[in-house]
Amino acid sequence: MDLKDLYRDVILDHNKRPRNFGVLAVPPAYEARGANPLCGDTLRVWVQLEADRVADVKFEGKGCAISVASASLMTEAAIGRTLAEVQAQFDRVHHVLTHHDAALDPALGKLAALAGVRDFPARVKCASL
Ligand code: ZN
Repeated sequence: MDLKDLYRDVILDHNKRPRNFGVLAVPPAYEARGANPLCGDTLRVWVQLEADRVADVKFEGKGCAISVASASLMTEAAIGRTLAEVQAQFDRVHHVLTHHDAALDPALGKLAALAGVRDFPARVKCASL
């Protein structure tokens, strides 16, 4: 499957059926808000931890297909990981988003689909939000 197909299938799927959309049942350890005024994306993310591991993540908000799909993919990728693993994965994603010729690290998994936006600089902010 090439990057264009992966991008289309994964982004469309996660925009249509966002994973982990909603609020946490327990008070979150962390809360973050992000906005991308250029596009109109506004998202809130809540994280629940057990020791240094992400036990659960939820998000809510409104945004374009790319920002919603990216948030949905992020929640799937983060749950069950340690904070250090989540940071490493974020760094990998950010690298392929901002380096046009960067090779797609197999460790990216489905997140590789986000690399499809790197040819559209205006959308990089939507994906990295
Ligand atoms: Zn957007």
